[in-house]
Amino acid sequence: RGLVVAIDGPSGSGKSTIGRHLARHYGLAYLDTGAMYRALAWWALERGLSLADPSPAVVSSVDAAVAELALDLPLEEPLDPDDQAFRVAGTDVTSAIRTSGISTVVSRVATNLAVRAALRDRQRAIIARETTPDGWSSGRGIVAEGRDITTVVAPDATVRVLLVAGEEARLARRAAELFGAADDAAIEATRDQVVRRDADDATVSQFHVAADGVVTLDSSTLTLEETLDAAVAIVER
Ligand code: C5P
Repeated sequence: RGLVVAIDGPSGSGKSTIGRHLARHYGLAYLDTGAMYRALAWWALERGLSLADPSPAVVSSVDAAVAELALDLPLEEPLDPDDQAFRVAGTDVTSAIRTSGISTVVSRVATNLAVRAALRDRQRAIIARETTPDGWSSGRGIVAEGRDITTVVAPDATVRVLLVAGEEARLARRAAELFGAADDAAIEATRDQVVRRDADDATVSQFHVAADGVVTLDSSTLTLEETLDAAVAIVER
């Protein structure tokens, strides 16, 4: 069976950069599970569901409708670390799923336990497929990253890493990604997305403390290159 590298961490910890690097380095598939939750949020909005502050009277019907959509999400997950184009029902949503509109509502979708069960099953099926050689997959393995990969989706992964970084470092990275600068204004504008979203996400997934057997990699004081080297060293030990 192929290699499974599971990576979890809060937003701005560098999971996708590290994950894509490892996938390239070892010739593995790469699965960005956060993008699946983002794609589902996009699809729910597209289908007219009100995710931002639904009135209490409709909360449970919105949740049920989102869970229904999760069971049948018309998404084909891109697994090439160098081609992460996301398409939902034929529409290219690659940049749409990264907007602040989606970042603001995605936790609402991700804290829905029926949604989590549906996406977890789907992620496990992809991991199983990528670790079994057949006509479609090399079977060499996969790097999967998210919030609950080391604990729930693939607790039996070959390598499990929790990527952490101090809040200031994470805010600066996200601000640079979103606004092209990490000045005070950009950092303040990023704060809600990073800090509030992590707090909401932490109510359903444990990604601030490493579970038993999970290796913690703290990138706060490391350069990107040093972090990549440290990640490779963890896989090889
Ligand atoms: O990693 P990214 O910031 O793209 O994740 C977007 C959102 O998807 C997270 O804020 C979280 O709500 C959800 N998520 C999750 N479980 C995962 C990956 C992401 O709940 N394994």
